[in-house]
Amino acid sequence: MRTVAEFQALAAPYHSEIRVPPFETTPAQIRDAATAAMAAGDAAIDRLVRQDPASATFESTFGALDALRSDAQLVAARFDLIQQSNPGRDMRDAGEEAVKKMQDWDIGIGYREDLYAALKAFAPRAPALSVEDRRLLDFTMRDFRREGFELPPAERKQVEALFKELSPLENDFQTNVIKARMPLVFTRAQLAGVPDSFLASPGVKTGDDAYTILVNVTPQRLMVEQNCSDAATRLKVSTAELHLAEDVNVPLFNRIVALRAEIARRLGYASWDDYQIEVKMAKNGATATQFIEDLIRGIKPKFDAELAELRALKMADTGDPKAQINFSDWRYYQNQVVKRKYTVDSEALRVYFPYERVLQGMFAIYQSIFGLKFEQLQAPYVWADGVTLWGVTDARTGEPMGLFYLDMFPREGKYNHFAEFSIQAGRVLPSGTYLRPAAALLCNFPPPSGGAPSLLDHQEVTTLFHEFGHAMHAILTRAHRGRFSGTSVPRDFVEAPSQMLENWTYDKSVLDTFAADYRDPSKKVPPEILSRLQEVRLATIGVFYRRQLSFALLDLRIHGPRPAGSPVDCLGETNRTLGEVFFPVPEDSAFIAYFSHLAGGYDAGYYGYAWADSIAADMATVFKAAPRGFLDPGAGMRMRQEIYSQGDARDVSVSIEDFLGRPRSIVPFLTKLGIK
Ligand SMILES: [Zn+2]
Repeated sequence: MRTVAEFQALAAPYHSEIRVPPFETTPAQIRDAATAAMAAGDAAIDRLVRQDPASATFESTFGALDALRSDAQLVAARFDLIQQSNPGRDMRDAGEEAVKKMQDWDIGIGYREDLYAALKAFAPRAPALSVEDRRLLDFTMRDFRREGFELPPAERKQVEALFKELSPLENDFQTNVIKARMPLVFTRAQLAGVPDSFLASPGVKTGDDAYTILVNVTPQRLMVEQNCSDAATRLKVSTAELHLAEDVNVPLFNRIVALRAEIARRLGYASWDDYQIEVKMAKNGATATQFIEDLIRGIKPKFDAELAELRALKMADTGDPKAQINFSDWRYYQNQVVKRKYTVDSEALRVYFPYERVLQGMFAIYQSIFGLKFEQLQAPYVWADGVTLWGVTDARTGEPMGLFYLDMFPREGKYNHFAEFSIQAGRVLPSGTYLRPAAALLCNFPPPSGGAPSLLDHQEVTTLFHEFGHAMHAILTRAHRGRFSGTSVPRDFVEAPSQMLENWTYDKSVLDTFAADYRDPSKKVPPEILSRLQEVRLATIGVFYRRQLSFALLDLRIHGPRPAGSPVDCLGETNRTLGEVFFPVPEDSAFIAYFSHLAGGYDAGYYGYAWADSIAADMATVFKAAPRGFLDPGAGMRMRQEIYSQGDARDVSVSIEDFLGRPRSIVPFLTKLGIK
């Protein structure tokens, strides 16, 4: 196993630098590093604004701002990782606090008038620029415009005040969602159909014949909604969900939406969705809305067909020929259809997916298609036992591309989902050396137990292929500016490359390269189970997407244009849209109060999931048409050159079309949805 120093030495001939993030190990170090980073940033801004305008260059203005922000981001991203992964509570708390401080500091940069003045004075004198640097100039000036800097000073101050009022309200909204609690107590009979193993779990059995379901704990709620045969219980649970955080968040959300509309209006946008989407692929609210409405219409026959099947089951169940599927029982009947028709035992698949074999199998595939080599390095420091450090090199040239950490199993206090964290963005340093990226994967795979190795289910295998795809996007970048590095692409695109890679785990020839029964490796994944998994995916996709699309549309409607002086009726708009696109909900429902996406930066952005999905399906066609399918190195290298390596250094629409070799098409996505 090579040492980091040996790996670093390989970088010199390529004028690049491999840097191991200097992880802090005490809360005091975190606080000191945050203070030092912000002070260095302030000093760099002072140099920028105080320089002699006559001798200013692109590097000493726009370049300098990108560099100082990237330097600070390097530190903040490390703190974010510490906050999510460090075993010490004091370290996590210090990380969280430092991240917040640095975020506020960064927001403060956006309000500096002297900085704006210096950049604005230089902009018209900028020399001929590369595509990437032209974007850096345009985007930087656009950031200031979006903060109100092109308005007269008094009006700009008002916009700033509105933003400053908005931000804490959005935080409060999120906090209220997290804090919302709704216990409901049932008897065993009322929970008929719910598995005993779940009811016996700690905290659920709370009396002789009393079981407490926390509606705010998603797995608990889903357990009842999917399995309970008592319609009255399902109705009670589903209805309770529609009132979570209602009393606090309804007035808050109305205020948030009004503020957003007012900010957009003052900045010269027709609506908040236009403001939010301006910086994304879709460019404006109308384009996003049209995309979503077309899909809603397109998928209606598929949705109706799925619904008819659910309804038939309910009619048989209840003996009521007029039975209708409603918001409180679609999950239950969908689960019944899947169980009866497809009899997929997803647990039985686990034996084919021992963790180590899956990881090595995925490594082999990504190394082969993207032309890479991964090697484990002797890590100078890791934050917990079992965390490993890896180096990535270009297989053909031996050029070191970057580093990644793997932290794959659950631990007390650790981030409890699966995600990739880009901890070091790639970019050209002022010295001209390229700083190569570093990333980390935080996952929570089942630990080994009872003599068996860690065994993944199919969904977890798919998640690994997805998340590691983000790491590839981060590490393989060749963008010159930190702002455009790797995954810093528009939010309605960033998921697409990884969503595309999810196709790999449904492909028999891909799985056969690594998946095998850990007790007898001659046994491969049975093809019939795999095809049933695909059938289940297709059999439920109409309901899945109509639900997604209903959220996307209500988000766009709430944040869309409306006549001046007419406030949006958030609850009414939401309930109306759910009824039109998904299932009608009771008139007094307050779904929006518990829908955290609309206050966490995804406001006027929910459409992005389907948008990216459609691009993912389009991009997958390149591999499907290639000689070796999903294992094709030619298609993989094209992906690496045109998508991963570009980052956001050029318009992603150009990257996508260069990868496809043709204009984008919605047809592959419609085919995936089962729409002919
Ligand atoms: Zn993702």
